[in-house]
Amino acid sequence: MTETLSRRSFLGAAAAAPLVGHTVDRTGFPAPAVIIPGAARFAAVASSNGLRGVAKAMELMTRGVDTLDAAVEGVKIQELDPEDTSVGYGGLPNEEGVVQLDASCMHGPSKRAGAVACLEGIKTPSEVARLVLKYTNHILLVGAGAKRFALSFGFREEDLLTSKSREIWLRWRANRGKEDDWVDVGEQEPIGPRPTGTINLNTINDRGDLSSVTTTSGLAFKIPGRSGDSPIVGAGQYTDNAVGSAGSTGLGEANIMACGGFLTVEYMRQGMSPTDAGLAALKRVVSLTPPRLLDPSGRPRYQLNFYAVNKRGDVGGASLFPSDYAAHDGRDATVRDTAYLFPK
Ligand code: ASP
Repeated sequence: MTETLSRRSFLGAAAAAPLVGHTVDRTGFPAPAVIIPGAARFAAVASSNGLRGVAKAMELMTRGVDTLDAAVEGVKIQELDPEDTSVGYGGLPNEEGVVQLDASCMHGPSKRAGAVACLEGIKTPSEVARLVLKYTNHILLVGAGAKRFALSFGFREEDLLTSKSREIWLRWRANRGKEDDWVDVGEQEPIGPRPTGTINLNTINDRGDLSSVTTTSGLAFKIPGRSGDSPIVGAGQYTDNAVGSAGSTGLGEANIMACGGFLTVEYMRQGMSPTDAGLAALKRVVSLTPPRLLDPSGRPRYQLNFYAVNKRGDVGGASLFPSDYAAHDGRDATVRDTAYLFPK
């Protein structure tokens, strides 16, 4: 159980020196944090495909449902939607045509995390990640072990490849290069660059309890076994119940290098707003990007987004290039423009 300093003692400390306080924590090792005065309020923030998800999470939280359970119910809408080819059922497959799913979650009040990577045949990896969090001493299960773990809890194994996703994959396989043995297929509708997508959703209730979850089918046509940032705690999502929650969508490899979910929360700990914290984390990501992923003027050749909420319930979204995100402030669910580093 954590408590923040009272507003009065915070103001007293602030007069003496920096705007830094310590959370009272029975570990005896509290991390210093800027205390944000003001009562916590309900909020949810997500990638833009999470508009229905933030509404669902808010509806559940205001009925008293825990912030992690609310977040998981929110992202499950996309996991179960065959039209969302970036998440769960209907997600785009790896280069062999197999759908491999990644997810992770954190629960602020209990300081626990759970994740699965390269999970096959199960539609809702976010639920499996939550089971790892709740019922094991581990944090990340992968591949065949993650599937056996899910089946042991009664999940049904299903074919996750929809005809829409198979069609996109077959077209990609046929047209991937001139050197292979697949006959090129005339493109009535171009596939364009390799699609990416994911859903991240972060929640806070009026007691200031925070949670985060991210779930994805990952980079389309990836090398089998590839895990992106989504199942990596500290990259794809992160929660510190004294500070805030943050998560990401976009090129996972770029984010993993900077531990972007963790870094965004750390910037909020220093007192930045959720949006400014996301922008600061993106600058760090760019500074760590290998040259082959930068264009001649130093701009990244990929997109990356961070979504964040602080301990007070302020939300924000930031991206490398213009984008949008979904947020619920307790009144309405809206799609908003992100703050960004580079114009299109
Ligand atoms: N971050 C995901 C991954 O790298 C993909 C995405 O968000 O588009 O697996």
